[in-house]
Amino acid sequence: MADIYSKEKRSYLMSLIRSQNTKPEIMVRKYLFSKGLRFRVNVKKLPGTPDIVLPKYRTVIFIHGCFWHGHGNCKIAHLPKTRTEWWEKKINRNIERDNSNRRKLKGMGWHTMVVWECQLVPKQRQTTMQGIVDLLDKAYLEDYKIKATNSLAKKINLTNHKLCSGEIIGSTTGDGF
Ligand SMILES: [Zn+2]
Repeated sequence: MADIYSKEKRSYLMSLIRSQNTKPEIMVRKYLFSKGLRFRVNVKKLPGTPDIVLPKYRTVIFIHGCFWHGHGNCKIAHLPKTRTEWWEKKINRNIERDNSNRRKLKGMGWHTMVVWECQLVPKQRQTTMQGIVDLLDKAYLEDYKIKATNSLAKKINLTNHKLCSGEIIGSTTGDGF
């Protein structure tokens, strides 16, 4: 079927569509920014060049295209009908690389989050965005708890003493009592 627009008009329309910031990463960035979260983008010195890095939350976020990153059981991640085997190998390599990057990041103490393209369709977008923020809060609280426990352990010399409230009072108030 012939295009109802001229070639020029079509390319003008396409350029408008492209400039509307509908790319998944940009949607997520805008949302996080609107919630007052601050982050860096495309951080090359971390494994896999994460799309969004939130140092305060020790969290990196990857926004994955379902096809290229092989989203399992996903409607939009179907392999093409031609050269299927070639595509399968290629996508499997991407999956392996993604997994290895996530393992490396975890080993470096980062929380990793993956947001799939299909989770950002208009119907699901709000739930997904809220889910990201909830997970960030959880990551932050977990790190806070670990830090608090570590510093408490240091303070009361947890390795040599049994933890009980009397000992905490005794060791933190000094000789005054
Ligand atoms: Zn998907």
